[in-house]
Amino acid sequence: MITFGYDCPHCGKKDVAFEVGGFVQRKVKSVPFDVYSILATCNYCGHGIVASLGFNEKNPADLIAIDAFRKHADWREKDSLFDLLDFDPEWLPKPPKPEVPAHLPNNIAEQLTGAEQLFLQARGDRLMIAYSGLGFRKTLEFALKLLDDNTDKNLNWRINALVKNGLLVKSMGDFAHRIRALGNDATHDDISLDELQELRLFTQLFLQYTFTLPAMIPVK
Ligand SMILES: [Zn+2]
Repeated sequence: MITFGYDCPHCGKKDVAFEVGGFVQRKVKSVPFDVYSILATCNYCGHGIVASLGFNEKNPADLIAIDAFRKHADWREKDSLFDLLDFDPEWLPKPPKPEVPAHLPNNIAEQLTGAEQLFLQARGDRLMIAYSGLGFRKTLEFALKLLDDNTDKNLNWRINALVKNGLLVKSMGDFAHRIRALGNDATHDDISLDELQELRLFTQLFLQYTFTLPAMIPVK
């Protein structure tokens, strides 16, 4: 049995155990070695990742490696000393990273990164959904405070005032209200993964429109 730790691209679990489930060996004319395509599956969600290694049977060191790999991949042997990671395979798909638009003020980028990290985990862990939702709502609060620092007012009031004063266009105000409403659901732990994905999308678009796009316009 060959196991190793990897950040699962499917369920978002960090350093979760993956187990090699099988491999296919191909001889091809385009490269001077045999290509081994290896499938490994996540012990938490069961989904798979693949990597390809090239072993040249004319190379003595490769022959030893092939022998060890075949033995442990096929036999499901426990307590194996064989370490697949010694061969530095490139597993695909890669774990997703937090998406943070360019040109965000530092404190907003930090808030969003936290919410994004929780979002990636929430795909495989329902308990993280509400926490991630709260993170996106907090990101919106930070962004609105930068636009208008009426800290004693609630979010609903502040969004309406920003629209009224022309600091937010109406469509962005509608976005902000949707984020606020979904964020409130997260506060009461009453939010689904689909709704969290919507909350994330709205937050990303709001930040891009408010900070990223204006910063990309060249100064004359
Ligand atoms: Zn997984």
